[in-house]
Amino acid sequence: MSSNLPREQFNQRVLGWFDRYGRKHLPWQKDKTPYKVWVSEIMLQQTQVTTVIPYFERFIARFPNVQSLANSAQDEVLSLWTGLGYYARARNLHRAAQEVVAQHQGVFPCSVEQLIRLPGIGRSTAGAITSLGCGNYAPILDGNVKRVLARHFAVDGWPGKAAVSKRLWEISSELTPSERHADYNQAMMDLGAMVCTRTSPDCNNCPLASTCQGLASNSPEQYPGKKPKKTKPVKFAFLQIQMNGNEILLERRPSAGIWGGLWSFPQFETLEQLVDATQINREQVTELPAFRHTFSHFHLDCFPVLVNSKKHEAVAEEQCRWFSIENDIDVGLAAVTVKLIKQLRELI
Ligand code: SF4
Repeated sequence: MSSNLPREQFNQRVLGWFDRYGRKHLPWQKDKTPYKVWVSEIMLQQTQVTTVIPYFERFIARFPNVQSLANSAQDEVLSLWTGLGYYARARNLHRAAQEVVAQHQGVFPCSVEQLIRLPGIGRSTAGAITSLGCGNYAPILDGNVKRVLARHFAVDGWPGKAAVSKRLWEISSELTPSERHADYNQAMMDLGAMVCTRTSPDCNNCPLASTCQGLASNSPEQYPGKKPKKTKPVKFAFLQIQMNGNEILLERRPSAGIWGGLWSFPQFETLEQLVDATQINREQVTELPAFRHTFSHFHLDCFPVLVNSKKHEAVAEEQCRWFSIENDIDVGLAAVTVKLIKQLRELI
């Protein structure tokens, strides 16, 4: 390790800080089970704790164990995920629950090797479930831990690169103590989320400040290295809003691709295609204000088009349904659909 600080002292400082300031009363820390830790870890990927809490509570109230999740319809899972984004997480959660029931008799596996074979579970999430949920030793390396370690040990380079990731995993494995490993892992996540934050680390209140090489360099924010920038491509979506009174027509997206399995307005690449599909004149459509929605890999320029339409019975209920916008819609909705429904509610 490229620091003179012995492991024991590093652990003592981190655990001492955790005992005073760490988070010990989060909903998934009460009556802890591997299942609850798993759900929370998946929700916490790319999402802040405060946002996750109400979603987690609703999810666990509806699906208190892995069997109830496995037996549910994907629509219901996606509905409880609406607003959290990154819907592949919810689809994988559902599939993984079904695999746990089918392959492990409904008992959540407690080893990293078994866990990483389940959909949506990477090495760090597997480590967190093993350590925090099952009480077995395992190191972790989520985004928060990467940041603390990269800064403290001045590890250069973007952690998405195999060599940098390998180095950080080595450090994490060397430092994770065999005693109190669950507290230590939670402490490192908390330290990254609460003190060693992405843009403004609070080094004055950090238990590792006196030995932090990133701080000694005067610019700890340079660690970890940034992902090389690529310009995001722009795609276009003409969204057909068929409305009849207070009802709208939505279609279920294919399970692969963006918004997989979610319900959204039918989408076309051009206005001509949209108009052709409705078999009406171009003069009968109203173009609503366009807006941009940004995904991790591209921008989607959305052009909503209102089509006043007679309510016809949809082709196949499974894939296409009318929903009243006066009520809550109990299927998974893409963020763009939620945004447009909000606007439509103001029109009626
Ligand atoms: S001293 Fe600052 S940069 Fe270093 S680990 Fe602590 S908060 Fe992060």
